[in-house]
Amino acid sequence: MPLVTTTEMLRDAKVGGYAVGAFNIENMEMAQAVIAAAEAAGAPVILQTTPSTLRYATLDTFAGLVTALAKNATVPVALHLDHGNSFDLAVQAVRAGYTSVMLDGSGLPLEENIDTTRRVVDVCAPNGIPVEGELGKVGGKEDDLVVNSATFTDPATAAEFVERTGVTSLAVAIGTVHGEYHGEPQIDVPLLRRIRETVTVPLVLHGSPGLPAATIRECIAAGISKVNFATELRAAYTAAVSDYFATTNKPLDPKAYGALAREAVQAAVADRIALCSAGAQLKAAM
Ligand SMILES: [Zn+2]
Repeated sequence: MPLVTTTEMLRDAKVGGYAVGAFNIENMEMAQAVIAAAEAAGAPVILQTTPSTLRYATLDTFAGLVTALAKNATVPVALHLDHGNSFDLAVQAVRAGYTSVMLDGSGLPLEENIDTTRRVVDVCAPNGIPVEGELGKVGGKEDDLVVNSATFTDPATAAEFVERTGVTSLAVAIGTVHGEYHGEPQIDVPLLRRIRETVTVPLVLHGSPGLPAATIRECIAAGISKVNFATELRAAYTAAVSDYFATTNKPLDPKAYGALAREAVQAAVADRIALCSAGAQLKAAM
C-alpha cells in the first residue's frame, strides 16, 4: 500500500495503550529488515531518518526506497523525518514524499521553538502531514546534536506548547538520553503521567536504548505512544558484518554480509515491536 501518515497509527496506539515502534534506518537492508519484522508481527511501523543519514544519501533516495518497500507491504508503513533541524529540511522532506516530520526546536529558547515549530505545522497541516515537536531536552548525543544538560519537560509549558504550535505529537524529556547512559537511568515516570494528563496529543519517547525493558513498558503504560529505536539496529547490523569478516576467508560479495546484517536487524526490530505492544498488556493488568 502507499505510505501512510503517522496520524492514525499514533491515535490508535494512544487509545489502545500500546506504542508504535519508530526505527532509524541508514540503508536498504535496514529498511527491508524493519518492514519484514513489522509484517511478521502484523504491526504498523514508522521508518525514520535523521539529518546526518540524509547527508549520507538524500531525502529522495530514502523516500523512493521506503515508498517502493511499502507498496508491497502488508502493514501500514510511515516515513518520518527524525530530529528535523530546520524549517527548510522539514518542508523538503514533505515535498520528497515523507509522510510525517519532526521539528526539533528543543535547543532553541521557548518562543523560538514555538515559532519555528508553528511555521512547520502551518505548511504541513493543510497537506495532512503530522508534525512532532520537542519540548525540554533529551540528553546525550544523537546525530549532530549534543546535549550536555538535559532539561525535563514541564507539564504546563507542554500544554501551552501543543496549543500554540498545533503539533500532532510531542517528544518529552523525562530523563532519557540519546546514546549511552552514564550510571543508572533515572526516568521520571510520575512526570510523564502529569504530562499525559495535561497534553492530549500522542507522546514520544526518545533515547530508549539503554533503558531496561521494564522501564520502557512502564513508560508506555504511563502514556507513551511512539518509541524511537536507533542504536539497537546499528549494533545488530555492525555485529553481524564484523562476525562475517572475522570468520570468512576473502569476503567479496556485499550481498552475503548484507543479508546477514539484515537478518540481525530484523531480529532486533521484532524484539522491540514485541516490547512496544507488551505495554498494552501491562496497562490492562494495572
Ligand atoms: Zn531522538
